[in-house]
Amino acid sequence: MNILVSACLLGVDCRYCGTGLFNEAVYQLKGQYNLIPVCPEQLGGLTTPRNPVELVNGQAVDQNQNDFTDKFEKGARETLKIAKLLDCKMAVLKSCSPSCGYGKIYDGTFSGNLIDGNGKTAALLAENGIKVITEKDI
Ligand code: SF4
Repeated sequence: MNILVSACLLGVDCRYCGTGLFNEAVYQLKGQYNLIPVCPEQLGGLTTPRNPVELVNGQAVDQNQNDFTDKFEKGARETLKIAKLLDCKMAVLKSCSPSCGYGKIYDGTFSGNLIDGNGKTAALLAENGIKVITEKDI
């Protein structure tokens, strides 16, 4: 079975800061599933590295109030396309991210505080019937 995985969790250097965040437990899922790495923010056309972004009232903005919502939403749609093409029924996504976070995300103050909510991609996948979990659930 194919499952989507946030590419940064598999060690791809796609995070805003230009690094990955390899997670051994997620990587070991390769024994049970075909892991399909995706980075919604890159799929939306954002560069790496890039400014950190958080969601404020549903808008994806950086600390200078530059608005990247269109690119975040494009990345979500492209990720959903891949999920459908490859018949992925589950996604293991990076916690807290404004794209990939599920259940908890940063609160928009860039201070590390978390609030209830979902990243743009996680929300769209879940709305389309894909089971979303994060690396913290493994
Ligand atoms: S958008 Fe998702 S996959 Fe890409 S770097 Fe951020 S958390 Fe990782």
